[in-house]
Amino acid sequence: MRKTLPSNHQGTIPIKLVMASDFQRYDCTGCGVCCKGRFAITISKADRDRIIAQNWTGEELALGGAPLFTKRGDEFVIAHLENGACAFLQDDGLCRIHARYGIGGKPTSCRLYPFRLIPVGKQVRVDVRFDCPATAGNEGRPISAHRGELLTLLKLLTADRAGELPTPPLFGNVKVSWHALVTMTENFERLLLDISLPLTKRIAACVNLISLLRDKRIATLADGDMDEFVSSLVSTVQGVAVEDPIVRRAPDMMESVIFRHMLGVYSRVDRVGEKASLLARLDASWRLVAGSGNVPELFPGFPTVPFSQVEAFQDLPAGDVSLAIERYLHTHITSMGFFGGGFYGRSYLDGLGAILLTYPLLLWFARAFAIADGQQCLALAAVERAMMVVDHQRGMTPLLNTSSEQALTRMLTERNALRILVIWYGS
Ligand code: SF4
Repeated sequence: MRKTLPSNHQGTIPIKLVMASDFQRYDCTGCGVCCKGRFAITISKADRDRIIAQNWTGEELALGGAPLFTKRGDEFVIAHLENGACAFLQDDGLCRIHARYGIGGKPTSCRLYPFRLIPVGKQVRVDVRFDCPATAGNEGRPISAHRGELLTLLKLLTADRAGELPTPPLFGNVKVSWHALVTMTENFERLLLDISLPLTKRIAACVNLISLLRDKRIATLADGDMDEFVSSLVSTVQGVAVEDPIVRRAPDMMESVIFRHMLGVYSRVDRVGEKASLLARLDASWRLVAGSGNVPELFPGFPTVPFSQVEAFQDLPAGDVSLAIERYLHTHITSMGFFGGGFYGRSYLDGLGAILLTYPLLLWFARAFAIADGQQCLALAAVERAMMVVDHQRGMTPLLNTSSEQALTRMLTERNALRILVIWYGS
């Protein structure tokens, strides 16, 4: 997917940079994954002009006569070599531009990755992409250590822009203030981090809270009353979570088919410069949706384990695994990049449903990886691989933005279906 500049940056003055807690860590390990075939390196005209002025020659970049840039809308994509690597990636895994000109010479999108900057009223919040192995593995310094570099990038990205973005809807055409959305987010964070409950119960409680917030009367509440109101709803869903036993029920046929279709969308890999055979793709989609026999090879190297084993695999996400998923969800919820400009323009509650849907998706992928590794229980490494798969397309692929995919996501994130999937794969 794209390693790109944020497209939602129009019209905002950054006043405060808000980062998820130091629960999440990151430092570049130089693995080079983000400089290889799965990422289209999309840059601005200013970045392209700076690189042209650096006077790179065709021989240095081994382009074999191919153009260095391809125009895509208002942006440009850097050429990839036959081996799938960015034209500037050296054999030692380092960036040629960085080596010669330092970090300031690199494209802004490369400096920003794996971070995303999300305008939220008079704040800019920081999200982190988990398709980066260092983010998924929680390697490096706490993310707050990157504040200085992020502030520099923020200035570059917003230098000539002014104004505050309008709030996306809460749901449908119901709108509340940025303050109200921030208050709700803090309450979802509180619920997610309530370690007195197992993770699956907490996520099921978040699903219930989404349902309770779909009430048009909420738009009439003053900002000052919002915290008390949402806090009382959180207490209600926490009480239900404590009292109610978790009852597993298998997803029905329709839910299963749509869920497996989503597995295909989230795991799709488009290697830059390669056109996968349409026939091969159709065949994999058909076998995935049919759900019998072995899982097709969703991307090169994906384990073709039996569907029945993935469904029968039962292991509660606990310990390190539970913490890793909690970290994933907490980072994305705190960033508020799960709706509006950060996620296909979706409403706040639809976006929250979509981020909670990643819980059963992550667990399904993690089960497949664990089975292929001969494990009887969910291992941290399997969950980290699953996070890298799910976050590569989430919020990035235009596929998830078509009206048919939106309708399918809505069916899966409707309260009952989402609860069933969360509990089925999470307990
Ligand atoms: S320009 Fe440098 S940092 Fe960006 S993708 Fe290419 S090699 Fe990697």
